[in-house]
Amino acid sequence: MTECEHCKLMEDKSMVIFEDEDLVAVLSNKPAAKGHVLVLPRQHLAIFEQVPDNIVQKMAVVANRISTSLFELLRLNGTNILIENGTAAGQSIPHCAVQIIPRTENDGMKLSWNPKKFAESQMAEAEALLIRELKPKEQKVETQKKSEVLADPENYLNKQLRRIP
Ligand SMILES: [Zn+2]
Repeated sequence: MTECEHCKLMEDKSMVIFEDEDLVAVLSNKPAAKGHVLVLPRQHLAIFEQVPDNIVQKMAVVANRISTSLFELLRLNGTNILIENGTAAGQSIPHCAVQIIPRTENDGMKLSWNPKKFAESQMAEAEALLIRELKPKEQKVETQKKSEVLADPENYLNKQLRRIP
């Protein structure tokens, strides 16, 4: 028997609203609002970085379609589509999920934050780092094959993979 709460949720077919070979969409057992849906990779994957790209794409498409249906069926004013990625981001169950939360005007739900003030130098350091590491370097991207990317210890994606516990 699995200990994972999300793996267990997928087994309860009465709560499943969509499934295919890769994904299962279920009604949340801890809903923030009526009609709160979770889109889960069928495979037990802890965080979003571990989800293969083709399944990430499907998760986004399925989440968008469910969100569209929720708008119509529940007469919503909005939805929040979000991923709690890591415990620092509020993730409590180690099985990646896209949360689709129905919203209505003045529903009192708090998903906002106040912008923080940072020293100019702190901002500049982070910005320079992100631009240096993430902005496509045209020649490198065009010439580096996938096998070379995976062998490159300085590649951003490989650094990300090493970061996963
Ligand atoms: Zn699981």
